Amino acid sequence: NNESAQHRGETLPRASRPLAAVTGAELQAPLIQGGHIRYANLDYGASAPALTVVSAYLNEILPYYASVHRGAGYASQISTSVYENARNIVRDFVGGRPDDSVIFTRNTTDSLNLLAGCLPVEDGRQIGEVLYLDIEHHANLLPWQSVPHRSIVAAGTLSETVANVRTALSHGGVSLLAVTGASNVTGEILPIKELAALAHEFGARIVVDAAQLAPHRRIDIAAADVDYLVFSGHKLYAPFGAGVLVGRPDWLDAGTPHLAGGGAVREARLDSVSWATGPARHEGGSPNVLGAATLARATQVIASLDHDEWHAHEAAIRSHLVEGLKQIDGVTVHQIFSDTDPQDTIGVVNFSLQGYDAGLVAAYLAAEHGIGLRDGRFCAHPLLKRLGLPSGSLRASFGVGSRLEDATRLIAGIQALKSNGL
Ligand code: PLP
Repeated sequence: NNESAQHRGETLPRASRPLAAVTGAELQAPLIQGGHIRYANLDYGASAPALTVVSAYLNEILPYYASVHRGAGYASQISTSVYENARNIVRDFVGGRPDDSVIFTRNTTDSLNLLAGCLPVEDGRQIGEVLYLDIEHHANLLPWQSVPHRSIVAAGTLSETVANVRTALSHGGVSLLAVTGASNVTGEILPIKELAALAHEFGARIVVDAAQLAPHRRIDIAAADVDYLVFSGHKLYAPFGAGVLVGRPDWLDAGTPHLAGGGAVREARLDSVSWATGPARHEGGSPNVLGAATLARATQVIASLDHDEWHAHEAAIRSHLVEGLKQIDGVTVHQIFSDTDPQDTIGVVNFSLQGYDAGLVAAYLAAEHGIGLRDGRFCAHPLLKRLGLPSGSLRASFGVGSRLEDATRLIAGIQALKSNGL
């Protein structure tokens, strides 16, 4: 039967799969193959390679690829059903409330821009300001700069930062607290449940940028009382081109339609329009069915992983890498908060090597050691400047397909650079 399991509404087993069952080729590839060293991908934080289950699913639904909501034909019906069911799967993945909207977008950036167009207004003016920290990725910073906003510094200890958020909220006038679930620069996790409670105490809502958190931790927005959550498929082991915004429908149903066009309307006239409510309001044009479907499939696979094995795997690689790097003279591992528990950090390690330009180190590691990692300012310029790294640093990031040897190779690469120079 070619109809997908997803179409039939089946779900994968939750929280029981071994990692090796889903990561296939990447995790199991021999270290040296045909005389070539396996590529050490330490850039999962940028985009995570599609899981085997996800790419198989893509091939499974490809024959039914048709425009949704627009045809009575069989393929269109299947596509529509896969697309609409993807919303339920994603809602389930994030622990959404039954009436939460699930809107498919291009990526996290798109989702946050969409939300920025839905902030409540009265008499044409926005009610309240958006409050954000200075550690945010530009996706969770720049959309708020075109609406009334305020920012605060996230420094010192995590509890000092939470206290600063409380003070800022207590002054009143904040309608939305925009915060990352985990820093894309250092991997440190923010206490979203606590921040949600604070926002609500002062009459604000909260949006969590889960672009980095969702691929590493289970999230339950109903339990954490998070109003809006956004993330991207391509960082969650699905292909590029799809992201999602999940959250309370009232602002979204009243907000400016994100993409004016076909499908977003109840009724269009020559010079006026009644907009639709629900996800359709913001999803004008033909949607990315395959993107949404594979994103949803990836969430099922992630939800099916054996939780303890998954976390132990990533934590072991991280501590091995941090310990190894710290042994090297001249290496500094960066973090935002002085008291972060390593357990509250996702698979990201940010570091620099004294006397060496980060870009040159990254190029050397790629060329000489077959390692892919990220250098630069990570679309978080204010944070890098405040950390005293105006010209950037290096970021190694990993996930379910990574191996301890990848970290070992990186440590050896930095040691070789120190011994031999560039
Ligand atoms: N937010 C965080 C924390 C990120 O790490 C990223 C990407 O690196 C984004 C937002 C933007 O994601 P996208 O480029 O998929 O829109």
